[in-house]
Amino acid sequence: MKVECIIKNNMENIKIPKPWSAQIEPTFGCCRKCHFCGIQSANLKIGEYKFMSLDLAKKIAIDLNVFLGKKRIEFALSGEPLANPNMTEIIKIFRDNYPKSQLQITTNGDLITKDLVENLFNNGLNMLLVDCYDKNSKSRIQTLLSGLNSDIRIYDFYKDNPKVWSYKGDKQKEIIYMDSIASNDEKDITRRLNNQAGFGKLKSNVVLPLKVSCSNVFRELVVKYDGSVYACCMSGWIPNPEMIVGKFPENSLKEIWEGDKFNSIRKILYNSERYKLNTCAKCDYKGYKNSLALYDFKNVFEIDKQPNTIIYKKSRSLFMD
Ligand code: SF4
Ligand code: SF4
Repeated sequence: MKVECIIKNNMENIKIPKPWSAQIEPTFGCCRKCHFCGIQSANLKIGEYKFMSLDLAKKIAIDLNVFLGKKRIEFALSGEPLANPNMTEIIKIFRDNYPKSQLQITTNGDLITKDLVENLFNNGLNMLLVDCYDKNSKSRIQTLLSGLNSDIRIYDFYKDNPKVWSYKGDKQKEIIYMDSIASNDEKDITRRLNNQAGFGKLKSNVVLPLKVSCSNVFRELVVKYDGSVYACCMSGWIPNPEMIVGKFPENSLKEIWEGDKFNSIRKILYNSERYKLNTCAKCDYKGYKNSLALYDFKNVFEIDKQPNTIIYKKSRSLFMD
């Protein structure tokens, strides 16, 4: 089904709460090609990259500072952020122009050096999440980072249980080691492998399309390296017009977040109609349960009797800031 065909329906009553966080893509492309990752479908060789420009990064930071005030930023998406040669500068740009944000980078650790890590934290990074995809990664990186500044705290995700996906402020400096998701699938509710909307090579063990909602589209703002905004973090491994909800800076991120196309997709997914979108029909993402509990959708949104109308009923305070 083409999303565009329902844009013109009655959507003016929708008021969507702000996202909990924003995912920004400094780099499209990776130095690995993990079998479960959507990068399997990207038209890129290992080590071939497309980078976000400093100019675009600055415009995003300025725009988010007005739109979000203080929220978490995750630099990751479809690639290895540290491959971007300007990553330390991008962190500085965000710290200077969006001072209250909590800045997090998720990396596979392959390109880590001690100087790079120190520069990132000196420029305002709050959290470096290191996905250790092979058994020697952690000890290799620990050796590389020995003697690091003592104000950087170091955690093990599974042993220390640090808070990773909540706003803790703009001052902390943390490195968090995560063992490979491939070998720790389902060990933690937030660490589940999925088929990346069909773009990865994991075979689904469920019947698709799932007849469940998806809360991803209510939670996260997803901005790719070129300013394209996608409805979710799993839908942009290839140019995918169905799930592009806007282009920044042509429109502000607030306009895009609250725009008709994004709301059309939200309505489909809130109503558990994944089959109506080619991308979502192939997706086995099961994050709907924990997020539904947090949102309490039942009491917040009501689908009224007119088609394609969502009425937002309760106060924004129900939603995390
Ligand atoms: S999972 Fe991470 S490290 Fe592996 S290919 Fe994807 S982006 Fe790269
Ligand atoms: S169901 Fe659709 S919106 Fe939700 S995660 Fe999958 S592809 Fe993204």
